[in-house]
Amino acid sequence: MNRTEGLQIKRGDKIVIVGGGFAGLQLIKKLQKQDVDILLIDKQNHHQFQPLFYQVASARLEPASISFPFRKLFQRKRNVDFMLADVFRIFPESKTILTDNGEVSYDHLVIASGCKTNFFGNREIQKYSLSMKTTHEAIAIRNRILLSIEKMAFVSEEERKALSNIVIVGAGATGVEMAGSFSELRSTVLPKDYPHLDFSHFNIMLLDGSPNTLNNMSEQARKKSREYLSERMGVEVRTNVIATTYDGNFMTLNTGEVIPTKTVIWAAGVTGNIMKGISEESIFRGRYIVDRFSRIQGYDAIYAIGDIAYMKTEKYPNGHPQVANVAINQGKKLAENMTASLRGKAPSAFEYQDKGSMATVGKHKAVVDLPFLKFHGPLAWFFWMFLHLMLILSVRNKLIVFINWAWSYITKDTSLRLIITNSREVEEEA
Ligand SMILES: Cc1cc2nc3c(=O)[nH]c(=O)nc-3n(C[C@H](O)[C@H](O)[C@H](O)COP(=O)(O)OP(=O)(O)OC[C@H]3O[C@@H](n4cnc5c(N)ncnc54)[C@H](O)[C@@H]3O)c2cc1C
Repeated sequence: MNRTEGLQIKRGDKIVIVGGGFAGLQLIKKLQKQDVDILLIDKQNHHQFQPLFYQVASARLEPASISFPFRKLFQRKRNVDFMLADVFRIFPESKTILTDNGEVSYDHLVIASGCKTNFFGNREIQKYSLSMKTTHEAIAIRNRILLSIEKMAFVSEEERKALSNIVIVGAGATGVEMAGSFSELRSTVLPKDYPHLDFSHFNIMLLDGSPNTLNNMSEQARKKSREYLSERMGVEVRTNVIATTYDGNFMTLNTGEVIPTKTVIWAAGVTGNIMKGISEESIFRGRYIVDRFSRIQGYDAIYAIGDIAYMKTEKYPNGHPQVANVAINQGKKLAENMTASLRGKAPSAFEYQDKGSMATVGKHKAVVDLPFLKFHGPLAWFFWMFLHLMLILSVRNKLIVFINWAWSYITKDTSLRLIITNSREVEEEA
């Protein structure tokens, strides 16, 4: 088929979407009224709102308030079905995919599988550190932090030191938000829960290989976020350093320094959830190379959208940033183009309108970069909260999150510090 032709979608076609993140869900939302059969396959049974994982990890929000079950979402949708399965391989010639629940056929396949944590090949760090790409991993961080504090009162001085050092590697938005949130936990919540413990030695370290925090944002946002963290919130920010090894007890830096720590959270990078079966030539830096209509290079009926897609444009010669807004817009655009194809019309090319970026560091402390305005402080913080509330699925979840935030704003506390793990895991943690 000539790549300049339309997408060749026909009435009644079966469109299989792998991944119900921001991109996959937006595609379904905009396509569900068309005369096509949609099957969403995801290895989780729920949509995850990743931007607020750090609030689950720091015991501010319950996972249920930022998750939404797919089957509930598709109730009463005649032509949308869901399958809980992990997709392993794609067979483009037979238009089938292999999952841990068997084989599935498709007329058109959309890969919206997002990213996983990138440990850059360092298996030791991967083995012993924690990451935050799923609800389960966010809960694991919460468990680890709360268990460490529970143990602090009963261990030797040396072990207490290792338990008191929380190291976050990667000072992008995730690392910055997590460091700020742990700092607030330390100053406002923990002293009330553990009046006999001294938290002055509870050290939160934020490391980054680049010279700045929030390296992808404006100079103003970089400076302000660093100032908030190190000068106002007592976070030890170290830039231009690289973590080289970690054995579960000691982390070594490229400077030769060794940090005793039982908790390392790796937020230093992501790489795509690539599935077997697509030619290596169509993959670049862990993402599928797509054209402006989201078709994977060399394949007519296979598309990629969101974090997993690598689309070069004049404005984005190195591909788009891996953020929610790009994923949402690519999902929307592909739905528009598929609908156009059903009506015999030509597709239009994707163009991303960057509306800006933001990060929150703590109460009344956030940074916002809009195309024509940059600001920080309480207004930025309220702006950040409002936009995130709007993005969360379902009115019920929005309300729960709002009530939780309002409660902790007023009381400087939360009541969500549950360690949810079985006794064997607790023993392993020890
Ligand atoms: C901790 C964290 C904080 C973030 N904060 C922000 C923020 O503040 N602002 C922002 O814009 N962006 C943020 N991001 C990035 C944003 O979440 C992503 O850009 C966005 O989720 C990408 O959407 P997506 O649909 O491409 O993929 P995802 O939302 O990651 O969804 C991928 C889906 O695919 C499923 N899947 C993966 N592999 C398979 C498989 N083999 N078989 C079946 N299913 C599979 C997954 O279970 C998942 O449901 C953050 C990311 C993280 C991890």
